[in-house]
Amino acid sequence: YQYNTAQQQQVDSTGITTPSSSTGEQHQFQAETRMLLDIVAKSLYSDKEVFVRELVSNASDAIEKARYLSVQGEGPILGESDLLVSITTDKYTKTLTIQDSGVGMTKEELISNLGTIARSGSKAFVEQLKEGGKGGGIDPSSIIGQFGVGFYSVFMVADKVEVFTRTRSQDAVGYKWTSDGCGSYTIEESSDAVPGTQVVCHLKTENREFSDDDTIKGVLKKYSSFVAAPIELNGQQI
Ligand code: ADP
Ligand code: MG
Repeated sequence: YQYNTAQQQQVDSTGITTPSSSTGEQHQFQAETRMLLDIVAKSLYSDKEVFVRELVSNASDAIEKARYLSVQGEGPILGESDLLVSITTDKYTKTLTIQDSGVGMTKEELISNLGTIARSGSKAFVEQLKEGGKGGGIDPSSIIGQFGVGFYSVFMVADKVEVFTRTRSQDAVGYKWTSDGCGSYTIEESSDAVPGTQVVCHLKTENREFSDDDTIKGVLKKYSSFVAAPIELNGQQI
């Protein structure tokens, strides 16, 4: 990876110099991931709401992993009330935020899980795309639904995504992962990260409906019965 050399400094009102938000280590997405992201971002796939299902199921998976570790005695002891998917919408900032109290990710896990395609569904998707490119003439957006593209589906609706994450071990360092889904992402340490993972989706203007409470409530009603973890939307249990 490359370090971002544009380490601009900002001086705040207290005179303390802090790195600007553009700092952080810059990493390039793996070539196959770039290919997938390019398709996803340009997709005319009509069922864009599936990204909510993907993010909520990741949050729920992470909570199940934390619960398992707790039961195995390999992690902190967790009560049911500690394990929650908490979703917030903000129409004014056009954001949708999905927070979980699950296992979180180390820096290495962030790089391998959100920078490469490990997922079998996404792999099959890319394989199909390559074959289509050799004269098959397939419509890429028509197979987004067929294979599911997991986390990357967020770039159908968002032009910037921030992931704050920290594992549950006591001395863990928190990180912030940021990407616009175009080729690269940055990683920096973050003191804002609490144990678990928070995904902040900055929505494209044409997809701002996903920052509306009622829209998300409707989408969750369709999918939440498949989700094991308890879900809260703007402080109300779903
Ligand atoms: P899948 O869920 O099928 O593995 P995704 O693209 O949805 O594929 O996610 C890729 C990986 O990123 C997951 O397997 C997981 O390791 C990691 N990940 C994504 N979201 C979270 C989260 N909220 N908490 C912890 N890990 C996550
Ligand atoms: Mg997933």
